[in-house]
Amino acid sequence: MNVTIFGTGYVGLVQGAILADVGHHVVCVDVDADKVERLKKGIIPIYEPGLESLVKENHAAGRLDFTTDAAEGVKHGEVQFIAVGTPPDEDGSADLKYVLAVAETIAQHMESHRIVVDKSTVPVGTADKVRAKMMEVLASRGREDLGFDVVSNPEFLKEGSAVADCQKPDRIIIGTESEDTEEAMRELYAPFNRNRNKIMVMDVRSAELTKYAANCMLATKISFMNEIANLAERLGADVELVRQGIGSDPRIGYHFIYPGVGYGGSCFPKDVQALIRTAGDIDYDAKVLKAVEARNYEQKTTLFQKMRTHFGDDLAGKTFAIWGLSFKPNTDDMREAPSRVLMEALWEAGAKVQAYDPEAMEEAQRIYGTRDELTLCGTKEAALKGADALVIVTEWQSFRAPDFDLIKQKLSEPTIFDGRNMFEPKRMAKKGFTYYSVGRSTQG
Ligand code: NAD
Repeated sequence: MNVTIFGTGYVGLVQGAILADVGHHVVCVDVDADKVERLKKGIIPIYEPGLESLVKENHAAGRLDFTTDAAEGVKHGEVQFIAVGTPPDEDGSADLKYVLAVAETIAQHMESHRIVVDKSTVPVGTADKVRAKMMEVLASRGREDLGFDVVSNPEFLKEGSAVADCQKPDRIIIGTESEDTEEAMRELYAPFNRNRNKIMVMDVRSAELTKYAANCMLATKISFMNEIANLAERLGADVELVRQGIGSDPRIGYHFIYPGVGYGGSCFPKDVQALIRTAGDIDYDAKVLKAVEARNYEQKTTLFQKMRTHFGDDLAGKTFAIWGLSFKPNTDDMREAPSRVLMEALWEAGAKVQAYDPEAMEEAQRIYGTRDELTLCGTKEAALKGADALVIVTEWQSFRAPDFDLIKQKLSEPTIFDGRNMFEPKRMAKKGFTYYSVGRSTQG
């Protein structure tokens, strides 16, 4: 099939690549001319395992192309995906200006029937807004005769495993009430629906809400577990034992119950906020979601609080080694990352940071530029040199078994603040470290 995708971010680019890889002909449109030029040359703007080769191969095979020319994009695809950003507005609601701009563009240029697929995460009722915007533009062109359908097809990929998630999705949600559109979407996704039926067809509003419900449920699990961790710490219990104890119940399960320094990224924070806002708009007080957000906000300061307890309020003149800047492993994404809250608090308190991340160094440079308080180091070992403590913020695989002797040797004081519970507290004490983690008593 001929497919057009508006937006070449995490969602649009990955979707474009995997659809082209099974044989569809895909044109990706983006307003960012630089990005489009780089993509044409095979330069991938984000770090995502497996993506680069997929993009290069399919581009070379002529099944995946990139353009800034919206008219060309609209002409190409019978299916038009909207995969642009929906950042939080000032009041926390999802800002739909990019989504509606694409709807307008499609209506401006279409000359025959189009299926408009909303893949961006958008509040319930957005498909109606997209439809209204398109009808308005078609009316202004005097082309009300042109038919179209708006489908909700939310994306559930996880950054860091986006390609694999899209190639082997847990489910494919299709929100439409039109049989023809359902059939076209089934054909589009047939290559990903071979072993068991993953396609779930539902009404548009339910599809839109499913995406928010999924992300809010996951965020709730994290905030809940962080609450238990904070309690464990104060009650003399070990949250890691509690985690295993509750995870063994299949109704709870082991997934997503790791305590830590709070969730970040481009999705959970904004989607929880947006659903709270949606609830507010219909005079419903989303009490659970508000608590999830409040817990997360505080949790991001947990390492800073522990550092202040250890070193005293005055951190001026101190230097800290930070391992992990991305909001989670296997991505270079630092949007809403707990590392940012921590670093900014440390700078505010007069401390300096020597940071290392396996993938997010360029992104950190882009965000913070050159400044005295931040040294970006080429290796995790270099970040340790002369620092007053090591602080682990992201649980990258390469941090799991470090050379502890070297850490001790390089730090001016053998102290570790571990926001991801990567090590065993008693073992760390035996090695001579003062070891702080989350939801467990401090050792050493
Ligand atoms: P992103 O910010 O990485 O990319 C968005 C892209 O859209 C940018 O390249 C931007 O230049 C482009 N764009 C903006 N306006 C445009 C226009 N009018 N025409 C063409 N391109 C335009 O965003 P993302 O992370 O890919 O997220 C996209 C949507 O998918 C959001 O609603 C997000 O909530 C949702 N989502 C994201 C993830 C994720 O893990 N990142 C997962 C599931 C769903």
